[in-house]
This record gives sequence, structure tokens and C-alpha cells, in this order.
Amino acid sequence: MTKPQTNAEFLSARPQYLQSSSQIRAYVDEAVDWEATHGLLLRAPKLDGDDWLATALVPAPVALAPSPIPRSEFDKVVALQPVFNQLFDRVSRDHDFLTSALESLGSADEFTLRILAMYIRQRTLGVSKPGVVGIHRSDYLIHAPDNEPDASPLAKQVEFNTIASSFASLSSIVGDFHRHMLAKTGYKDLLQDGSITKEQLPANESLTSIGDGIVAGFKLYGNTSAIVVMVVQPNERNIYDQRWVERRLWEEHHIHVMRLTFGDIADKCVIGDDNRLFIEDKEVAVAYYRSGYAPTDFPSEKEWEGRWLIESSRTIPVPSLAYHLAGCKKIQQVLAQPGVVERYVDDQQAAELVRECFVGLYPLDNTSEGQQAYDLAMANPSNYVVKPQREGGGYNTYGDDIPKLLSSLSDEERKGYILMDLIRAPVFKNILLRNGQLVASEVVSELGIYGVWVSDNSGDVVINRSGGHLLRTKASDVYEGGVAAGFAVIDSPLLI
Ligand code: ADP
Ligand code: MG
Ligand code: MG
Repeated sequence: MTKPQTNAEFLSARPQYLQSSSQIRAYVDEAVDWEATHGLLLRAPKLDGDDWLATALVPAPVALAPSPIPRSEFDKVVALQPVFNQLFDRVSRDHDFLTSALESLGSADEFTLRILAMYIRQRTLGVSKPGVVGIHRSDYLIHAPDNEPDASPLAKQVEFNTIASSFASLSSIVGDFHRHMLAKTGYKDLLQDGSITKEQLPANESLTSIGDGIVAGFKLYGNTSAIVVMVVQPNERNIYDQRWVERRLWEEHHIHVMRLTFGDIADKCVIGDDNRLFIEDKEVAVAYYRSGYAPTDFPSEKEWEGRWLIESSRTIPVPSLAYHLAGCKKIQQVLAQPGVVERYVDDQQAAELVRECFVGLYPLDNTSEGQQAYDLAMANPSNYVVKPQREGGGYNTYGDDIPKLLSSLSDEERKGYILMDLIRAPVFKNILLRNGQLVASEVVSELGIYGVWVSDNSGDVVINRSGGHLLRTKASDVYEGGVAAGFAVIDSPLLI
């Protein structure tokens, strides 16, 4: 198959999978049993009134077959990931930029302000860390509207995640799952006609890249008998995605991992000589956060104390406070303003490719630009998304809900939001297996590219690379796309 040049070519090259439930049913046992035998699992949801025992497991929600992504855009965003990693590293080191952009949020966003205050306190105290580790994920939707048949499909950035990017492990396994399902059926049985070739299914190193980044941080820390702490949410359902990382650290590197909540850290950790953090007699080299991005991760002052113990000690947090802040949607919006990316990306061609990924992003504050954006959104809400400074899915406002939200906000509250052009991803038909149900559905897919950055305490780069990918697919009639938030399934790309 040749590379699609236009939206029309890309859209016509989308595969047609089986759709009738009687045809698809034949594949369910094969799919679920493969998931069980390869660790593609979640813990079952907690039922009301139940003691949450760790014995009930469910297959992870998946697409039964891969979803189409233009090969040229896939290759482009994979190649761009090191540029994004460096861009965000430079932003994180630009104290004036970071603080002035986030101070423009005003007093509206208490959570972000508290992270900012912690970052300033840490900087004032001059806390020194042996290095910086970033495990990022840059998320894209393919913009390929069918009413613009002659335009080219383009990957447009939804957001850049710097904290707790999940599904790297399960995503890599879903790629293998699709390889299996297609190989077992001769690369054609799941299709209404035509066939798929295995070259269309790209390799995915996301099962190992996250662990490799943590190991490099551990080595910079320089104590082979120290441990890694994975900071987790209580009752995490997506635990196997995390356990795969843990397993790699232990089996390949003999590094011991402890899973603790911020509350556990406050209860059990102490800072000893030379600003080193200890749990019992074990020194904590790296704290990898799979929690800490949402206000609900800090139900009391105790959790904030736990976070501060890590941030104020020599332990390398993944991410640093500066990285956490650089991942705020406000920063993404300011980066989209003319000339800002160019300040941080030296190579002009690379800067242009970064810009090509951006859609329009606007402030909603009381500047003249913010007022203009407000008017645009009120007049044409179906063209936009309104976003607060939150992570984890389910917080955005779309379409007719936008005027209702905007008119209910005070001037001060509006500063906490940004406005973004709506990206119109191509719709296609796939088969989703979730919550014990098999649904043939019109879907759209969101592509995530993982990035791994490690630098030493003088800022010299140790690792800067892309670290594999994630495809999440959701029914086209819902706006939001999180798997953990209950909206989407894990998928893999079919390059066309
Ligand atoms: P979060 O940090 O909560 O994941 P996102 O910015 O990724 O926030 O938004 C959540 C979801 O909303 C995305 O996964 C995507 O499905 C949808 N979304 C976000 N921005 C856009 C956009 N500009 N156009 C279309 N859909 C979007
Ligand atoms: Mg996010
Ligand atoms: Mg997101």
C-alpha cells in the first residue's frame, strides 16, 4: 500500500473489519484467553460495600484489531519526540518563563498554585538532585476532515504529559495481541475484504523504555543498594501496567521497587544524613510517580508532606516539580504563541515541525487576546474545547456546554482555563472489547508517543529518545479519551 498523500486517500485506505456480532463472537475466547496468558489485565472495579481484594482480575479493554494511522505522520511524531523532550527540559529550566506563565493563572487554580509554591520553596532552599528523569507522552489526534479531501492528514498535538503517563506496558502488549490475532487468522479473516501485512504493525518498545529511563536515573544517583519507590494511588486498577515496569527493574537490574502512597511516605520515610531519604534502612534513589497529578491524590496535609519529603531530599522524583509544572495546559497554550517554541528549539526546521503539530490555543483571561478568544468560543462553541489545568481525563468542556461554562465563570476563574481548537479525527469502524461486551462501533483513535529524557546534575544529556507508543480508541460520539477514566480501549496502530 502506498503512503496516503491526501485525506481522501487515507480515508479510503481504512480497513473494513467484520461488524456483525455473530461473525465477531468467534474471536472472543481467543482474545480474552490471550490477554489472560500475557498479563494484559486490570484489577476488577471495587463493588460498593466490598472489601477490595486483589483476586478479581479482568481483561484490559482492547480493540480487537488495530486502527489506521498515516505512516508518514507516525514516523514524523516518533522522530520529533526527542525535540519535544528537549523543548520541555529547556522550558523547565527557564524559571522566569515558568513562573510568569503560571502566575497568569491567578488564584483560580489552587492545586497548580500549590505545586508552583512547592517548586519555588525547593528552589529557594537550593535542593540539589543527582539528575533529571522525564517519562513523557505526547498525545496526538489525526486531523483529516472528510470535507477537505485534498488536504494531507496531519498529527495534531492534544497535550504533552509529563507526569504519570500510563499504559506504556499494556500498550506494547496490545501490539503483540493484534499481531497474534491477525497472524492466527491469516491477516485477513477479521476483514470484510482485503488483507493486512505485518509490516503495517510497528514494533513498540514502550514495555522496556520506561524502566530503562528509571534505571538510568538510579545509576546517576549512585548507590547500588538503594531502592526505587513507585508512588501509587490506593486501590489502583491499572496495576499490571505498573508491575511490568517493576518486573523489568528487578529481573534485568536487580533493583528493588516498593509501592507506596504519598500517605505511606509521610508515615514511613525520614530524611537522614546528606539530605538522603530512607524507608527503614533503605535509601530511596528514585521516586517514580504514578500519582500526584490530581487534587484527589492529596486528600489531606499528610499526602502533601509525603510529596515534600521526596522533593526536599536528594531522591530523584519522576517527574521533577519543574517538569510537572511544564506539563500544565497553560504552558502548552503559551508555547503556541508566536516565537516561543523558537526560543527553545535551536534547529529552525525542527521548530517548524513542532509548530505543524499545534492547533490554535488561546488564553481565556482578561487580556485582549483572552477576551477575543472568549467571544469566539461563545459565538462558535462547536469549534473549540475548553480545558482547566487538570490531568486524567473528564475535565474538558465541549460544544454547547462551553457558553454555559464560560458565562458562569468570574474573570478570576476564567484565568484558570485555556481554549483550544477542536481537532477533527477521522472516524472508522472497529470492534471494541470492554466490560465483558463486544461492540462494533464508529471510533476515533488518539496516538501517544512516549519520550524518555535523562540528564545529569550539570544538565548533560544521558538519554533523549522516543520510547514507543500508545493508541487509545474510543467511540466517536464521546469527546473524552481516557482508558482509566472509562472512555476508551487500548489499541495499536495500523500504518497506512
Ligand atoms: P487530560 O490531561 O485530562 O488527558 P486532554 O487534553 O488529553 O486532558 O483531554 C482529554 C481528552 O479530550 C483527549 O484524550 C481527547 O479525546 C479530547 N480532546 C482534548 N483536546 C482536544 C482537541 N483539541 N480536539 C479534540 N479532542 C480533544
Ligand atoms: Mg494529560
Ligand atoms: Mg490526555
